[in-house]
Amino acid sequence: MNRMSTYAPETSLERGIERLRAQIDARVATWFSSCVHCGLCAEACHFYAETGDPRYTPIHKLAPLKKVWRQEYTFFGRLARKLGISEPLDEQDFADWEELVYDACTLCGRCTMVCPVGNDITAMLRKQREGFAAAGYAPEGLKGATRRTVEVGSPMGLTWKALEAQIRHVERETGLGVPVDREGADYLALLSSLEIMGYPEYIGAITRILHRAGVSWTLSSRAFEATNSGIQIGDADVARELLQRVFDAAESLGVKNIISPECGHAYTAIRWESAGLLGREVPYRIIHIVELLDELKRAGRLPTAGRTGVRVTFHDPCNLVRKGGVVDEPRRLLEAVAADVVEGPDSGVMNWCCGGGGGVSANERAEGLRLAAFRRKKAQFETLGVEAVVTACANCRNILEEGIEHYAMDVEVMGLTELLAEYLAEDGQGDAVAG
Ligand code: SF4
Ligand code: SF4
Repeated sequence: MNRMSTYAPETSLERGIERLRAQIDARVATWFSSCVHCGLCAEACHFYAETGDPRYTPIHKLAPLKKVWRQEYTFFGRLARKLGISEPLDEQDFADWEELVYDACTLCGRCTMVCPVGNDITAMLRKQREGFAAAGYAPEGLKGATRRTVEVGSPMGLTWKALEAQIRHVERETGLGVPVDREGADYLALLSSLEIMGYPEYIGAITRILHRAGVSWTLSSRAFEATNSGIQIGDADVARELLQRVFDAAESLGVKNIISPECGHAYTAIRWESAGLLGREVPYRIIHIVELLDELKRAGRLPTAGRTGVRVTFHDPCNLVRKGGVVDEPRRLLEAVAADVVEGPDSGVMNWCCGGGGGVSANERAEGLRLAAFRRKKAQFETLGVEAVVTACANCRNILEEGIEHYAMDVEVMGLTELLAEYLAEDGQGDAVAG
């Protein structure tokens, strides 16, 4: 495999159309031909629901991919093109749709859940981004994040030296060593740069928790970043390269398991997309930190003492819960450390997205639309009357904090792993009971 050291993809209209063409398989053809134009996907999308703008109807966002499918793979489409009635996709189409493809979609998966004929609209939107990135029509913020991830190792340009400084700080604070490059450890823990920069308490929390539970783990100085900008921008080559870096580090350390951090799309990338992207089986058990903590708790290895009395709800990260099926684990953990947990009708797999997933948070241009969509979350929290929101994705957490501040709400945002660490029992105390 040719390893990338720089990110400067050749882009052109032809490359974009070619890449779109390559995305169309039997499933995509079936999905497009099955659409009954019911409009249900519109009501499921927070961008449409909060703006009422019909351009934000999920299936409408797929018009460029649909045009290529129709013109090249259907009889009447081919005929129309031959007769000159239908023009091929052009630069203007890409320019017109770029906002719909990147700013107005978080790849949250909610539209897919409601489609009565089973169209995986989200999968098609993800495929469509491959064509847009190849044509050069992607937001500057995402291009920059992708370039920094390939060239420096993280979307925020964070280096191992910067992480080392955080590690020293955690070690002083916890009195515990943070294992680095420990060969033969059971678990390789990944981090997201947003956690390292914005929520370094997470590193302290996993250090304390994994020490308490007696888990053999390590960080890798070769591959610490879990964020996969290739998935977000729609560049499968970059996505593969970033995944390979992690698996190379795992192999050199001889670990058996890889822990995805509190980052939703990083979990989707490594847990659900790596085998397909790399075209081979991945010989590691890949687990989200919340799944591991739930396992440890249920095995009686994470006794906790006391619970917060603050009225809280869990914000379900789309990638973890809706797309990843990790629904009960965070709830069991939260119940263990919070006495007043409330759920709403849209909790769980039908939860509303924070509005910043799928690379939207890295796209400054999308800020106004993202904050408009956040009114969904605002209404949800107000209805539930919560004082705090707990989540398990650093990106969601950041977006929730921004939205809450923008709308001047009095709601605290917490990370689940840190909350659990706060209530970790000292040796010889707590409920060492499974469950
Ligand atoms: S994946 Fe989510 S944000 Fe994107 S169109 Fe569907 S519902 Fe809207
Ligand atoms: S919900 Fe499904 S069938 Fe209905 S308009 Fe959307 S894609 Fe078409």
